[in-house]
Amino acid sequence: MIYLDSAATTAVRREVLEAMWPYLTGDFGNPSSTHSLGERAADALAEARASVAASLGARTNEIIFTSGGTEADNLALKGIALAAPQGRHIITTPIEHEAVLESCDYLRRHHGFTVSFLGVGSDGLVDPNEFAALLTPETTLASIMYANNEIGTVQPIAELAARAQSAKVPLHTDAVQAAGWLSLNVTGLGVDALTISGHKLGAPKGIGALYVRGRVPLEPVLHGGGQERGARSGTENVAGAVGLATALRIAESTREADAVRVTALRDEFITSVLREVPDALLTGPAERRLPGLASFCFTKTSGESVLLELERQGIVCSSGSACAAGSDEPSHVLVAVGYEPAVAQTAVRFTMGPSITADEVHEAAAAVKTAVLAVQGITR
Ligand code: PLP
Repeated sequence: MIYLDSAATTAVRREVLEAMWPYLTGDFGNPSSTHSLGERAADALAEARASVAASLGARTNEIIFTSGGTEADNLALKGIALAAPQGRHIITTPIEHEAVLESCDYLRRHHGFTVSFLGVGSDGLVDPNEFAALLTPETTLASIMYANNEIGTVQPIAELAARAQSAKVPLHTDAVQAAGWLSLNVTGLGVDALTISGHKLGAPKGIGALYVRGRVPLEPVLHGGGQERGARSGTENVAGAVGLATALRIAESTREADAVRVTALRDEFITSVLREVPDALLTGPAERRLPGLASFCFTKTSGESVLLELERQGIVCSSGSACAAGSDEPSHVLVAVGYEPAVAQTAVRFTMGPSITADEVHEAAAAVKTAVLAVQGITR
């Protein structure tokens, strides 16, 4: 099988599992316990937090472990919006992950916030000047994703953060897809909050983290025992935190070389598909694209039929985001960047991990041609 669905999830890396193992077995204590097992767990958690902070260029007390990207996005949006002393206005984009969009909608419906959607071009990019024009004294928070999970657009986060900072508005970015490929240095980016998720970069599902800059007030979403300095109650996932810290450290040390190698393979794949497959449209930007992501609309097919045909040939990929897979609705991202719903329904997303090989990419490109032609033959 050739796995081209790394944006959906990744396998746990051996080094990550090995680092986690002690905290799932012998040193399984609860970090809140005062006995030695608890102390060892608390030490491991503190070390993991320091390591994640170092990977992000943040301070240790600015990292909150969560159950993943969805929870971190919810905590950023609701936590910052509800703690803000004044203002009831949020700025976001129509191509965010549902965790951001639905949190905005919740704040609108239950807490009287208004939500402004910053427009995106046909490549998914936002314009920092248009962003600046939406900022008002009422604006509580802006949330703009670092890299899009369906079409791979990488936003100019540092420029956006500079505009937000001038208006004294905190900027949150969902960096779930950027992690492992792009710099997550929060000082360089200038963001006030940033979301990451372990299972997209070789740590297990069920662990993530939210960075929140020290001075930004945060209202907890989960109430209980007061763990994570009161920001996120619940017994900490010690092994998960150790796994996330390890995966991030590895990613930080390899990501620049991985990005160069995988970008070249991805471009070869895109060129081959556009040349060989009739009526294929590349979605997303030509430049400013996540290294491992190639997404197309195979017009005159159905995305689901192409996926089935590809799977028969041993290629595993997705029809868009994993969350939307299986739904009949066209992707909100593709509709927002201007595709007709009928075209959006023909979308197929290929996402390569850092260990992808040239042979796999060549084999996959040939399989895509065969699969699309087979489906077109059936449906024509
Ligand atoms: N944000 C983005 C951009 C994603 O791609 C995903 C997962 O696909 C999430 C958030 C949600 O992360 P998790 O699966 O850890 O809840």
